[in-house]
Amino acid sequence: MNYNKNFDKIPKDYLFSKVRKSAELYFFDRKIIDLGVGDVKAPLFKKTVEAMKTACEELLSQKTFRGYSPSNGYQFLIDKIRLEYQNMDINISNDEIFITDGAKGQLGNLTELWDSGIKVLFQSPCYPAGAEANIIRGNEVDFITSDEQDSFIPYPPLDRHYDLIYLCSPCNPTGAVMNKNDLSAWVNYALNTNAVIIFDGAYSSFISGDYPRSIYAIDGAEKCAIEVNSFSKSLGFTGIRCGYTVIPKEIKGANALYTQWLGRRFNGVSYVTQRGAETFFDADVKKEVAKRINFYKTNVEILKIALKNVNLWYNNTVCSPYVFAKAPKGISSDVFCKTLLEKAGIVATDGAGFLKGGEGYFRLSAFCGREDALEGADRIMNLLNAF
Ligand SMILES: *Cc1c(COP(=O)(O)O)cnc(C)c1O
Repeated sequence: MNYNKNFDKIPKDYLFSKVRKSAELYFFDRKIIDLGVGDVKAPLFKKTVEAMKTACEELLSQKTFRGYSPSNGYQFLIDKIRLEYQNMDINISNDEIFITDGAKGQLGNLTELWDSGIKVLFQSPCYPAGAEANIIRGNEVDFITSDEQDSFIPYPPLDRHYDLIYLCSPCNPTGAVMNKNDLSAWVNYALNTNAVIIFDGAYSSFISGDYPRSIYAIDGAEKCAIEVNSFSKSLGFTGIRCGYTVIPKEIKGANALYTQWLGRRFNGVSYVTQRGAETFFDADVKKEVAKRINFYKTNVEILKIALKNVNLWYNNTVCSPYVFAKAPKGISSDVFCKTLLEKAGIVATDGAGFLKGGEGYFRLSAFCGREDALEGADRIMNLLNAF
């Protein structure tokens, strides 16, 4: 059998499976503080669970039973998403919104709209799923890196052409968030070079201040950008699975092809899940989400204080559940993450796992309880003071 040889070009283990495995190999006399995988830790919100329970009860009765959901999603959820955009002065129509089972799959699914072998650019260091999906598809993947000097905000490579460009803001892992000017530069570049941007807004709920929460806040983005979003990090849906993708009809062919793709490759997100996701737009739940995000952001600040105390550089942004920091004394991030685990019982993610430009850095996830953030901060200071 001729299996897909492109698999040889990516690591055997997905980054976060590897982080999980490495943590499990160690048994300590003390608790391991897991600041590794970016998975939410706090439970679902009450109203969300109530909505899902009610939806489940509906399925018990013949009159309200539902089978396959529409492959593009239920109207009630699509309407809420459209209104949310409208509140940001962005006009998206219902047939430009697609309900998905989360963002990760979409980053790869979308590549099927174009020929394989196209040229794809990734802002890097980056969340690895999209780049690796493109490699599996046989696309030519390139990276544009940025570093401490530009606070991990890359500027478009004006002398080069790509077919597809992946951007993520606020960025996982660096926490970098693009302002209007940064995003405008990319939108104009895409328009001038006939490229399509895939914008990953998985952390849009973490944005504070006047940073754009959607790429469509930028003029012209509706002609060149697809937006992928998710309820995972806001509503705590990493295990429930729901997100949405916006594909404007102005992007030649993409909207129609995606509708064709859906019919063949996807049978929709469950009714129960979509009723749960709908609560994201409820005023009370919005308050709860904001509180939860602030809780995680306070964890971020606790970790930053520890890093500052031991003079480690970190990307100082306030729109992310992650701290992206630099390993001390120029040691490799792989070695430093092992030291953190073996000497301090802390799981961190090696920056090199976030592909090009990540070597030398490590990511701490603040998706943890307060005690773990405080204990983690303490252990980091103790370890580094003795370094
Ligand atoms: C967590 C994450 C995702 C995955 O989201 P799901 O909706 O759970 O699949 C996508 N992109 C980025 C940047 C993420 O950090």
